[in-house]
Amino acid sequence: MPEGDTIWRTAAALRRRIAGKVVMDARPAVIARLKGRRVEAVEPNGKHLLMRFEGGIALHSHMRMTGSWHVYRRGERWRLPEWRATAVLSFDDTVAVCFAAPVMELVRDAQAPVAHLGPDILVDPFDLDAVIDRARHSEAPTLGELLLEQRVCAGIGNIYKCEALWALRLDAWMAPSELDDARLRALYLTARDLMRPNLVRPIARQRHAVHGRGGRPCRRCGTPIRIRAQGHQARLTYFCPRCQRKPAVVGED
Ligand SMILES: [Zn+2]
Repeated sequence: MPEGDTIWRTAAALRRRIAGKVVMDARPAVIARLKGRRVEAVEPNGKHLLMRFEGGIALHSHMRMTGSWHVYRRGERWRLPEWRATAVLSFDDTVAVCFAAPVMELVRDAQAPVAHLGPDILVDPFDLDAVIDRARHSEAPTLGELLLEQRVCAGIGNIYKCEALWALRLDAWMAPSELDDARLRALYLTARDLMRPNLVRPIARQRHAVHGRGGRPCRRCGTPIRIRAQGHQARLTYFCPRCQRKPAVVGED
């Protein structure tokens, strides 16, 4: 399940291998117009990946939960079956293959597919003021749902939602309005600090505090980590029921 940091690493790998090269063949037929065009840029944006070609055309892919780009040498064996490929771009010595991307389209205006997104969590400088402003206008009912709202801030996925909330001992079901600006800023900065090292570290070396650790002891207090579906998309939230408890309010039971 790709998060913003995965897309960044993917874009960097693609850029190294195909930037400046001319497409020899492009499949399926809907992207055949890319044949003969040179790759000008490969740009990550949240969970979207834009590949710009000469002549003002761009290939927009959105990975959602399933998609991934691979880069192979010509003739190298693919790690996934060909029938799962949603785009195949062949270059002189390299083949770029996108598997199982739910969105794959050619666009004239490369900004159009990402115009609605909030500032990217991984970009330097990070526009935190704009994120907080967007967060205060969002209708997301809980902190967990707010962090996944790509129109507020692009690039945070379910893993770093859980990790950032645990790091700050925040209840994922708390209403964003209950958090003051200083703590809301700290929440986004924590997610960013947790994600940025992944731009250079292989994914296999990532160690999570709560995500994927249901039933295992909290690294802070030893309480078993719980899992509960959250929001209308029923994304699984991993949390410590002890140290991420809402602070008690006088008059509440
Ligand atoms: Zn705990």
